[in-house]
Amino acid sequence: MNEDEAYEYVKNTLKKELITPYHADELEIVKSVSCCINCGLCINHCPVVAAIGLDRFNGPRSIAVELSRSPPEYWSTADKIYLCTGCGTCREVCPKNVDIPEIVNLIRARIFEHRPDLVPKGFMLVKEIIAEHNLAFEPWVDREEKAESRDMRLERLGLPHIPDVVKKNAEVLFYPGCQAEERTQEVREAAKVILDLFAVDFTVLDEFSCCSLPSHLMGDEDSARNLAKQLKKKVKKLGVKKVVTTCAGCTSNLADLAERDNWGTPTYHLLEFLAEEIGFDRIKQALKEQTPSQSVHVSVHDPCHLIRHTSRRIMDYAMDILSLMPGVKVTESITHDSCCGGGGMVSYHSRDVADAVVKENLISLEETGAERLVTPCPLCTAQIESNLFKSGSSIEVDDLTVFLAQRFSKE
Ligand code: SF4
Ligand code: SF4
Repeated sequence: MNEDEAYEYVKNTLKKELITPYHADELEIVKSVSCCINCGLCINHCPVVAAIGLDRFNGPRSIAVELSRSPPEYWSTADKIYLCTGCGTCREVCPKNVDIPEIVNLIRARIFEHRPDLVPKGFMLVKEIIAEHNLAFEPWVDREEKAESRDMRLERLGLPHIPDVVKKNAEVLFYPGCQAEERTQEVREAAKVILDLFAVDFTVLDEFSCCSLPSHLMGDEDSARNLAKQLKKKVKKLGVKKVVTTCAGCTSNLADLAERDNWGTPTYHLLEFLAEEIGFDRIKQALKEQTPSQSVHVSVHDPCHLIRHTSRRIMDYAMDILSLMPGVKVTESITHDSCCGGGGMVSYHSRDVADAVVKENLISLEETGAERLVTPCPLCTAQIESNLFKSGSSIEVDDLTVFLAQRFSKE
């Protein structure tokens, strides 16, 4: 009996008790919990605790020391565990590196497997969409209407349309993520404009499919594994050397999958690719001069999936690139790196919690006096933009990819 067969055998014997043995990578996460020294630092930094209080969300320490030890505790967390945005702040401040965000995902996975009655209904709807379309959003029914919407967006932004090319053995696979593929098409198109401008040899997928992060966050590990396997096969078949994406969540998830499952293709966020592969000299040369009337005062939001799940280096690159731009003044808000509430699929079942988390960000953003916010993630863009709109603010929001594409001109 090999290792996988032995695992399946043990799993089947424990099924009736609603117990799933840990996979090897899960064991590491579980071991990290036992390192908790109950210091409480994480509670003071958790944005959900700050936004809604300990009565409604008992916070990361409680998840570590009380709620993550055995199945009956997992089931009892169901009203709390889905309120974590997975921002990773607790893990970042924890002196013992307790991996709370992944413990949350592990508990969600056990609930999904054994107690689907406790899973938020909103998650089940997303599961159905993913099962039917391999995407986390309903795709456009009419492809012509989708193209018209794309063209209208490009016209408004003054960006050209670079036709999709699918080819084998390109240097780069450009992977926009579900949101930019089906909703914020301007982000997908702006990235292609930038890659084309720097003469990058790139392809897109013939048939787009989700990176698996939404399934993983919901706890639907079977779907997550299938989607990851499917995408790996497509990447291998195309024979690309690198994957470039514009979504913070896809960046961290694909980088993690590629490392754990030996994809052989490193993943870059577009900002990282620009800084490391194109270089600041070429970036500087490609920047358009701006007239005084085109000057703009911006503030920046740092997506959790970049700074806490991938590397803070990526947002340093963003600031370096912005500092090169003629006519762009940048003022950071004091909450530039705190969670916007858009993560962890929280808004799919508790929109009020997601919106309570972003409130502090909006207050400090107004204090900067900036007229525009830029952020390199379509999900953060949508979450902050809709809340600014609801608050009556005049601050506009751009995905940073779009903002950059508008300020480059062909070499
Ligand atoms: S990941 Fe973020 S929201 Fe979740 S417990 Fe940790 S600090 Fe709180
Ligand atoms: S910061 Fe880390 S060690 Fe301290 S209570 Fe939180 S999880 Fe435990």
